[in-house]
Amino acid sequence: MEASIMDGPKRRCGAVSGLTTVKNPVSLARLVMEKSPHSYLAFSGAEEFARQQGVELMQNDYFITEDNVGMLKLAKEANSILFDYRIPLETCSAGAAAAMDNPLQMNGLPISVYAPETVGCVAVDSEGRCAAATSTGGLMNKMTGRIGDSPLIGAGTYACDLCGISCTGEGEAIIRGTLARDVAAVMEYKGLGLQQAVDFVINERLDEGKAGLIAVSRNGDVACRYNTNGMFRGCATEDGFMQVGIWN
Ligand code: ASP
Repeated sequence: MEASIMDGPKRRCGAVSGLTTVKNPVSLARLVMEKSPHSYLAFSGAEEFARQQGVELMQNDYFITEDNVGMLKLAKEANSILFDYRIPLETCSAGAAAAMDNPLQMNGLPISVYAPETVGCVAVDSEGRCAAATSTGGLMNKMTGRIGDSPLIGAGTYACDLCGISCTGEGEAIIRGTLARDVAAVMEYKGLGLQQAVDFVINERLDEGKAGLIAVSRNGDVACRYNTNGMFRGCATEDGFMQVGIWN
């Protein structure tokens, strides 16, 4: 598991990778930000820091669910690491596409709409201070040692005095596009509003069918865009407005 967090106004950040026992990786990322002299801890050093900080640890088997074991088996059989609801069927390998014809269900959903485990959150307070955080188990069937975009400040997570952004999707594409930082950069350098900046980055920096993001600005604007089949998302405001969505 891996995660990161960023506090916009002071550009403080913390990140962790390579965790196997920490129940809430994003809380450990916050402790890296607040209680360590560093920005990013990984693997055994991150686990050691977790023990020192006394965060909640779980036996490794807590994280291994029957559903995910089934998913991993299918992904291995299909020799695919991109095996979830976000990937258009036609871009899956032949093996994965064949496996999708198999009516296997996960949590009552056909496997092709199974949600990956990444959770991102962006928030803005009444004084326009933005923050962002992202936490993930990464991609199904990833190589040992692979680090995705989620713990990388500027790729999967970014916040500054203008906005906060969290991304989800194929980490390699998000890293190549420095998606989260680019939203802030075009707001800053091109003077774009939040939605325009998000549209620009999705259109100009992201390969088709790969990812999506959620964003807030210091004005309280909310934006989300993805170029995948869908993206699980929700929004809540202080006056009680709430919305959730999966597809367009
Ligand atoms: N972006 C994550 C990664 O590549 C996966 C995800 O968003 O589901 O590790």
